[in-house]
Amino acid sequence: ILKGKTAVITGSTSGIGLACARAFAEAGANIVLNGMGAPADVEKERSAIESEFGVKTIYSPADMAKPIEIAELIALGAATFDSVDVLVNNAGIQHVSPIEEFQPEKWDAIIAINLSAAFHAIRAVVPGMKKRGWGRIITTASAHSLVASPFKSGYVAAKHGIAGLTKTVALELARSKITCNCISPGYVWTPLVEKQIPNTMKARNLRRDEVISDILLAAQPTKEFVTAEQVASLALFLCSDDAAQITGANLAIDGGWTAA
Ligand code: NAD
Repeated sequence: ILKGKTAVITGSTSGIGLACARAFAEAGANIVLNGMGAPADVEKERSAIESEFGVKTIYSPADMAKPIEIAELIALGAATFDSVDVLVNNAGIQHVSPIEEFQPEKWDAIIAINLSAAFHAIRAVVPGMKKRGWGRIITTASAHSLVASPFKSGYVAAKHGIAGLTKTVALELARSKITCNCISPGYVWTPLVEKQIPNTMKARNLRRDEVISDILLAAQPTKEFVTAEQVASLALFLCSDDAAQITGANLAIDGGWTAA
């Protein structure tokens, strides 16, 4: 469904972003990868996407905390492939701390990467999408765009901001055949989560399944993780013609978390 189209996916060197890149490439899109990572690891992922799916894939190390580099990322995609048809704002960071100890620099970084980066990237892609009369803008929000948890003030504020930005942009572009939506995952199974399990088992004297269901998934009624591939699959559906009337939506994929 994305043959001949180009997708820029921020924060796509691992986790959900990488799963989106692979799913979109499988659907025929040329890909602009972005994110941190050792050059050799990034190159391995980049060349694997090209060879497995037969699409062109380039990489940009643009820092999503820097507006100029965000503009350059979009310009690179447009210059290389003539157009940026799909934008996935996915880069994100987390910091956990009580509000009175929350370092202002951490707050600024979270707002910059998790919220302002989406604003800068959307601003940059919209003129080209309008010219071509088609576009898909998707942002990885979070269950924390809908509900809060203590000690995550920066993250929760940024993700709630994404929900508002998404609705506003959707209304502005409603007549332009460009949709703008966000996806709100609960806990997603990533290597980062997997790595926490052995230490937590030791520290709390719990079995692996107890750590998963009682500690990690305390908020998630299904007691199962979302997978990065499930999130990517929902993002890909939002790129389809069947999803043309889904805009301004905040789609939960959270094992029931925000139903509770
Ligand atoms: P991840 O750490 O695997 O991926 C984050 C990506 O963002 C990486 O590619 C990283 O290099 C990139 N990144 C970080 N800072 C960057 C910067 N300054 N510039 C460019 N790239 C940068 O984590 P993930 O779980 O795949 O997270 C992806 C998105 O999903 C984030 O926005 C996160 O908030 C959101 N999310 C994750 C979960 C979860 O449980 N894992 C749940 C809900 C929402």
